[in-house]
Amino acid sequence: MKLYNTLSREKEEFEPLEGEEVRIYSCGPTVYSYAHIGNLRTYVFMDILRRVLKYNGYKLKHVMNITDVGHLVSDADEGEDKMMKTAKEQKKSPWEIAGYYTEVFFNDIKALNIEKPELVPKATEHIPEMIEFVRGLIEKGYGYETSDGIYFDIGKFKDYGKLSGIDLEGQIAGARVEINEEKRHPADFALWKKAPREHIMQWPSPWGMGYPGWHIECSAMSRKYLGDFFDIHTGGVDHIPVHHENEIAQSQALLGKPAVRRWMHGEFLLVDNGKMSKSLGNTYTVADLKAKGFNPLAFRYFCLNAHYRSKLNFTWDGLQAAQVSLDRLLEGAWAHKKGNERVESGVVSQFKREFEEAVNDDLNIPKALGVVWSVIRQPAKSQGLYELLLNFDSILGLDLDKVREKEEKAPELEPEIEDLINRRQQARKEKNWQKADEIRDTLKAMGITLEDTPQGVKVVRK
Ligand code: AMP
Ligand code: ZN
Repeated sequence: MKLYNTLSREKEEFEPLEGEEVRIYSCGPTVYSYAHIGNLRTYVFMDILRRVLKYNGYKLKHVMNITDVGHLVSDADEGEDKMMKTAKEQKKSPWEIAGYYTEVFFNDIKALNIEKPELVPKATEHIPEMIEFVRGLIEKGYGYETSDGIYFDIGKFKDYGKLSGIDLEGQIAGARVEINEEKRHPADFALWKKAPREHIMQWPSPWGMGYPGWHIECSAMSRKYLGDFFDIHTGGVDHIPVHHENEIAQSQALLGKPAVRRWMHGEFLLVDNGKMSKSLGNTYTVADLKAKGFNPLAFRYFCLNAHYRSKLNFTWDGLQAAQVSLDRLLEGAWAHKKGNERVESGVVSQFKREFEEAVNDDLNIPKALGVVWSVIRQPAKSQGLYELLLNFDSILGLDLDKVREKEEKAPELEPEIEDLINRRQQARKEKNWQKADEIRDTLKAMGITLEDTPQGVKVVRK
C-alpha cells in the first residue's frame, strides 16, 4: 500500500518499521471547548488510516493525546492557556473543563464511528516525562533558560523547516514582532513556562513551578508509548508549520535522528468556502448536526466523498445530499441482503480488487466509494454482494451491517393482531392454555405464526 508523506512530498510504499505492528501518533484535541466539524474531519481521516491498515492485516499501536494543559491561545507561545481561559469564563476548574469536553469528544467520535485509538493519554498525567525531555534538551545544548521559561534554540537545529519547506529565516520573518527580548531567535519556542502564582495549573520542576509548552507533550508521550522511532504521525495541515516542526526539532535534537518515519496531514474543512470561526457562528458541532435532524454518519459520508488531502467545503445543502446518498446506500445494501440471485465469484473478486487498489492508493476513499456504488447498482441482487459490502464497510464505517438489525426488527403490526398477541400473552400468564392455543390458531388463520423464543415471542408472517 502507498501512503503520502508530507516530509518527502511523495506517495511512498508503506512498510512498518518492525514486524506487522504499526505505531502511530495522532495529535488529539485541546479539550477547552466542543470539537467542531473541522476537527472531526481530521479524526475521520485518522480513523480511515487506522481501518485501512487493519484491513491490510497490520496490528496497531496508536496513541492520541488529550491536550489538557499548555496550549496557549496563540500557537506561538503567547496569550493565556486555552484551558485556563475557558475555566475562568465558565467559573470552573481547568480539570472540570477538561473532563467535560473530553467526555463529549469521545461521544462525538463514537457517533461518527471513529475508533478510539489504543492509547489516549492526557498531557497533565505526563508532566514528569515532559520535564525529563526538557532536561535532556538543556543537557544537549538545545534548551536555554530565560526569566519566564525554558526555550528551544532553533538556531542550533539545522534541519528546522524541512516539513513545511519554510527555512529558518522565513520562520523568523513570519513570527510576530517579539515582546520577549530574552529569546535568542524570535521563532524559539517554549519547552516549559514558569508560572505566575495565580496560574492554576502548575507543577514543580527543576526551574521552579511551571507548566509545559504545548509541543513537548507530543514528543514526550509519543516517545513513552511508541518508543524513540515510530511509523506514522498524523494531524491537520495547520499543524505543519509550527507544532510539527517544533515536535521534529525537539525529538531529533534529543535522539540524534528523526523520530517519525512518515508524516500525514488531513486538509482543512471550510465552511461556505471560508474559515470556521466562532465570530462567524459557523463552528458547527455534532450536536448542531443532530439538532437539524441529520444522522452524524451523514457527515462521515460527506467527509469520505473527498480525498483527505483535498480541501472540503461544508454547506448544509452538501450535508443534505450526503444524507440522501447514505440512505440510498443503505437501501441498496438492504436489497442485496434480501436478494437470492447468484453472483459469479469473478465479479466479486473484481470489485474487491478495485476497492482495495483504491484504498491502498493513499487512502483514495472517493474512488473506493465509486466501487461501492457499482456494487449497489448491480441489477442481480445477491447476498454475496451484501457480504462484500460488509467487508468494505470495515473501512467505510457507515453501519451497513445495521441493515441487518432493520430486518430483524419486527415489522409494524396491525393493531388487531397486536391486541390478539397481547391477549394470548395474558392467557399464558394466567395458565389458561386452552385460550392461548385458540388465539394462536386464530392468528395462524390470519397468516401469522408465533414462535416462543427465550427473547420473547417472534412473529413470522406467511
Ligand atoms: P485542536 O483541538 O485545536 O488541537 O485541533 C484538533 C485537530 O483538528 C488538529 O489536528 C487540527 O489540525 C484539526 N483542525 C482544526 N481546524 C480544522 C479544520 N477546519 N479542518 C480540518 N481539521 C482541522
Ligand atoms: Zn501534537
